[in-house]
This record gives sequence, C-alpha cells and structure tokens, in this order.
Amino acid sequence: MAKSSVLGYPRIGAEREWKKALEAFWAGKLDQSEFHEQLKEIRLNHLRKQMDKGIDLIPVNDFSYYDHVLDTATMFGIVPKRFSYEGGVVPLSLYYGIARGTKDATASEMTKWFNTNYHYIVPELDGAEPAITENKPLNAYREAKELLGIEGKPVILGPLSFLKLSKGYAATETDSWLERLLPLYVQILRELAHEGVQWVQIDEPILVTKVSAEDVRRLKSIYDSFASAVPELNIMLQTYFESVENYSDIVALPVKGIGLDFVHGLSGNLSAVRQSGFPADKVLGAGVIDGRGIWKASLQEKLALLKELTGIVSSDRLIIQSSCSLLHVPVTVQNEKKLLPELKGALAFADEKLDEIVLLTKADVSGETSIAVELVQYESDLQALKQSGERNRNDIQQSVAAISAQYPARHLPFTERHLVQRDKWQLPLFPTTTIGSFPQSAEVRKARQLWRKGEWSNERYAKFIEEQIDIWVKLQEEIGLDVLVHGEFERTDMVEFFGEKLAGFAFTQFGWVQSYGSRCVKPPIIFGDVAFEEAMTVEETKYAQSKTERPVKGMLTGPITIMNWSFVREDITREQIAYQLAYALRQEVEALEKAGIGMIQVDEPAVREGLPLKEQDQANYLQWAVKAFRMTTSTVQDTTQIHTHMCYCEFHDMIDSIEAMDADVISIETSRSHGELIHSFELNTYELGIGLGVYDIHSPRVPRVEEMSSMIDRALRVLDPQLFWINPDCGLKTRGFEETVDSLRNMVEATRIAREKH
Ligand code: GLN
Ligand code: ZN
Repeated sequence: MAKSSVLGYPRIGAEREWKKALEAFWAGKLDQSEFHEQLKEIRLNHLRKQMDKGIDLIPVNDFSYYDHVLDTATMFGIVPKRFSYEGGVVPLSLYYGIARGTKDATASEMTKWFNTNYHYIVPELDGAEPAITENKPLNAYREAKELLGIEGKPVILGPLSFLKLSKGYAATETDSWLERLLPLYVQILRELAHEGVQWVQIDEPILVTKVSAEDVRRLKSIYDSFASAVPELNIMLQTYFESVENYSDIVALPVKGIGLDFVHGLSGNLSAVRQSGFPADKVLGAGVIDGRGIWKASLQEKLALLKELTGIVSSDRLIIQSSCSLLHVPVTVQNEKKLLPELKGALAFADEKLDEIVLLTKADVSGETSIAVELVQYESDLQALKQSGERNRNDIQQSVAAISAQYPARHLPFTERHLVQRDKWQLPLFPTTTIGSFPQSAEVRKARQLWRKGEWSNERYAKFIEEQIDIWVKLQEEIGLDVLVHGEFERTDMVEFFGEKLAGFAFTQFGWVQSYGSRCVKPPIIFGDVAFEEAMTVEETKYAQSKTERPVKGMLTGPITIMNWSFVREDITREQIAYQLAYALRQEVEALEKAGIGMIQVDEPAVREGLPLKEQDQANYLQWAVKAFRMTTSTVQDTTQIHTHMCYCEFHDMIDSIEAMDADVISIETSRSHGELIHSFELNTYELGIGLGVYDIHSPRVPRVEEMSSMIDRALRVLDPQLFWINPDCGLKTRGFEETVDSLRNMVEATRIAREKH
C-alpha cells in the first residue's frame, strides 16, 4: 500500500524562531552551545510534528544552519580560497563567513534556487581540495532515530545538480570534478547503508532543465557507481519544479525510486508516464501536493490523478508526497486571525499540506470512503472561495478583457516621442537621476510604526513624510541632480505598499518564507480580482513637485514584479492576473499624469524571476509580461516620459523583450556585473533611453569619481550619448545618509566631466 512522504520541511519555525536564533547568535547574544541547543529543539519539533501527523518517510538533513547548498559544499570541505581553511570540520564562524562575508573576505555569491524566491550560496570549486568533513546526513539520521525513534530519510543534494549549481571551474573540468566528488558521495552513502538507513532522497532538480547528452552520460555513471557501491540502499532520485527532460533515461537509472513533480510538471510528467509506462521494479515518488503554492488541494482531483497513476504503478510502489520541499511555503495557517473566512478556509501551508498527504495516503490504503468527510469539507472550502465576491468582480473582468484584446502601444513610436520629449523637458546631456528611494532612517521607520500602532494620527504622519520630502528635494537640488524623486519614505516595501491599497490582496500575520539565510519575506496573497480603488502615490509625488522647478519622477511598482513577489490565485492564469494588475496600475499612471507629473517610473526588477524553467515556455511568458507593462504605461501623452528600472544583471538574453517594453528610459544595474551588461549591448542594439547604474548601492563604500567616469566612458563606446542617463544602480533605502549624499555628489561630478568630454 502507498506510503506518505515530504521532500523537506520549512526551517524557520511558525514564529520564525530559527531566524531569531541565527540573528541572536550572530549578534553575540547566544553562545555557541545555546545556539546549537535552540536549533536542535527547533529541528526536533519539526520532526515530531511530521511524525504526529502520520508521515511515513520523514526527511532528515533537510534542516540547515543557513542553506542546504552551502551545507553540501562544507560537508565536502569546499571553501572559497580567499578564506583561511586547513581542512576538517568547517567551524560555524567560517560557515557563516562564507555566507555573509567577514572583514577580510567577501561573501560567496548568492543566487536564485531555480525559479523560486529562495536563494542559495553558490559553491566555489576553484582551488578546493574536496574531502569529507562530516557525514551530515548520517548525523541527522542518528539524531532522529535515537531521540524520536524516527526512521528518517536523509536528503542529499545530488552530484550532478551540485556541480551544475557551483562555479569556479571550466566546463571542460566537469568530469574531473565529478571524479573527485563521486568517491565522497559514495563514502557518505556507504556509511548510511552501514547504519541501516532504508531510504535516501537524492535531489537532482537539475534534471528538469535542459540536460545535454554529456550530462545524461554523467548521470548514468554517477548512479551506476552508487548502485554498485551500495546496492542495498534505496535511493529515491528526486526531481522537482517541472517535468523531467529525458524521462526514459532517468527511469532506466539503477535506483530504487524516481520522484516526479505532478504539480508543476504535471502535463510533461504525466504524459511521459502514460506513454512510456513506469518500470516495474521501481517506486514512484508521486509529488501530487503542491510544495510551492499556498492553496488547499482539491482532494477529489488528486485522488483521480492517483487513481490514474495506480493504473500504471501498483499502490505498494507508490509514495504520495509533496511536489518539492515545503521550504517554499509558510508553516501553518492556524495562527492567522485576520483573514477573511473564505480565504483562510482555502489555504494550506506546510502543516496543512502534511494533512493532505496523509489523507490521500489513507484513502489509498483504506479506501476513499475513509476520508469521505474530508472530501466534502475540502470541496466546500474551495467552493466558498470560488464564490467570494472578491473573485467575481464582473466590472473588472470585463474591462480587463476589453483592454487586453488589443496590443497596447504609445501614440507615437519612440523615435518621434523622443524628440517631443526632448523639446518639452530640455534636459542636459546625460541627465542624472536616482532610482526612487532615499535612506529609510531609524526615524522614518519609527514614525511609520507609531502611525501603524495608532499613536500618530494620519495628519501627523503625513506631515512627517512631507518634512522628509522637503529635506530630500532640497538636497537633490543642491547636489545637482536633474530629475528628482520624492524618496518613497511612506513605503515599507515596494509590493506591500501597493497591495495594501489595491483590492484583491490579503496579508497574513505569520506567512513568512525563507528568502536567503535568516532573511524571510511575507508575500502578499492575490486572492481576488485586483482593482484600483483610489490614488496611491499622487499626494506625495505632487507635494514633491510643488517644491521644485525640476521634474519629479513618479514611482510605481510594475504588474509583473507585484505578481512575482506575491502568492497568487490559481483559478485564473498568471497572464490574467498580470493584466488585472496592469489595468489597476494604469489608473494610477493616469492619475499621476493628471496631477501634473510628466515622468513616471514603473519598476520591474522581478521580470526575470517569473521566467519559466523550460526554454520553450519562456517566449510566451515574456510576451505577456511585456504586454502587461505596456498596458500599464501606454495611455499617457507623448510628452510624458515613462521610465522603468530593473536590477540584477543577466539581461543579456532578454534585451529584445526589454526593448519591447517601449519605456522611454530604463535604468539598469551594471556595476556588479563588471561590464558584462555593457558587453551585451555591444552584441545587441538597444535604441531607447538607458541609464546605467554607475555605482553599486549594495555596499556602504563611497565610489570615487574616476571609477564612475571609467564606467561611463566604457558605456558610451557602445551606447548613443543622446539616449544616455546616469544613475546609481538601485534604490538607496538601505544606505546611510552621508554615504548617499557623498556618492551622489561624486556621481554628479563624474557626469560633469563626461559632459565636458562630449
Ligand atoms: N524604486 C525602488 C527603490 O528605489 C526600486 C527598488 C528595486 O528595484 N528593488 O527602492
Ligand atoms: Zn533595483
């Protein structure tokens, strides 16, 4: 009969106790042994919870002190060479040094874990001498067994994925690295087998991306060597986030189980299983419960899916599990006290997903009628949300359908608009501006708190914000910037601020998920039809404009970024949600314009985050993402200048789409990508206004004039001077006051020099 399992459980704790412990330890408020104790307590709690719920195969070693990719690297003694390390167990100070930097060495790069908002630490192989420092999966297994009597399933990041996610080696060295790593993996697995471990979950998420023939060959040799070294160990080769490429190669590998994602890779994986069947000697890890979404599953639909699968794989060879680790969802819905009942009733976070998995397994084992009550309950909960007024706003749906039926375009093409705008704005060569936010000092945050708690009236808070705007408008003029901003002092966060003012959004109290390290985010939930209710940014922008002769740029977050940084409903497509957001934001753009604001920036830093993993799906996504941006921005007059901003590099393969957004000016990050971005403009043409970030705002260091000058000179070799703007590479809200002012002064000086040269 089927068994139940999950692929991993959130680390952070229902009240973010994990985060708090890490930060207390870093701040020196917890000593090392207290820290270990606290983390152990958290870890055991999570195991106990899964045991009490009735999960059969409980993952161990999914817990981490920071990040599981970093854990894998340090388990193999892979430490970047700028840190001093002589082998052996990596001490906590070094472990956190790699993750966060020390005073002598910069932190390792951090990057997105596939298409999620989780970020992992990129292992640096260059110069490393891999050796096992400790068998972490074994320790985790022993702990669970000895203290709780749990027969855990150690989770290990597989060799192919580990290598592909690492850097610091040339592609031609892949095989030699594999040769060095394989014996270490084998050793880890041998010790596990020797200990009597039943199941090991080896994660190879890389298998859902395009895998070369070379890599398929590598995959075979990896799993062949595991099979011959530890034939008695049941290996579950686990994939997630999409359907696998090379299905038949994968199911032919000599492992006991294959784990497939039947949520995010449903169509691809299901048709592969239907067409090619599933080997009779293997166990199928059926990822049917969404590990990334926050909604209750329709148990009925899941049972139908499982029924189909059991026609191909017998029940006793089925493990019913989450589609991926539950790391990507909040811990529990239970503590939420402020949500609409029809919304709360339809949510399932990690703990509730455990229940779903157990219910489905029970239905398989004792028949569907054993969960008859729950089946009815789940359907009625889902029905209640479906019928919610928030989801059925005909006015919105009709307007959005009408507007999205046409492809939105500005009245004039850029080449003509550009001339009209040049006459209107009379800006100097290389106009200078900033990305939007200015430092959110302790004073600003304090004021917001007082206002939120009700200790400050709306008037008092508004007055305070105006004072901040006054200070910064003056400063910007004095520094000599050409296009000013109001500074975003009224905003906590670029998504939350808008979500709180638009209809269709909900905010949880405790719905945190880990973003990187101890950093957690609490994404809003887009659960209803999104609608504009009243102007959101007009007051502050208008106020700033009233204080200066120079243009003040209005500042909005774009539809795609709002969507990609939220949890979203699943009854309509992401494309539809994007258009609803676009329609709402367009009304804000129009309101700003009407209030006399003639430059409007619509930030889209998160476009890339929504890019599908499968190459064949990417063009379609980009097409509607661009369309949503254009819907937001295309109804303005010719003279109104639309700006956009994107941070993070890696735009080289997206330049055509960025151009298609048709923004009059884009400001973009370049400083951290060491000119890579400029290089991509050498290869591609880009013929709209462009502001290159000439300094990195992520560092408190004040950049020298010459550094920025050379950045500018290099860019001007490939970009048209008439279209070139100068700005920092992102918003300045996390920076201090003085460094911000000094940096901007240097930037303006570098601009003066550039103007002289041209
Ligand atoms: N306008 C925003 C700011 O300056 C942009 C932030 C971002 O790109 N992440 O803060
Ligand atoms: Zn940015």
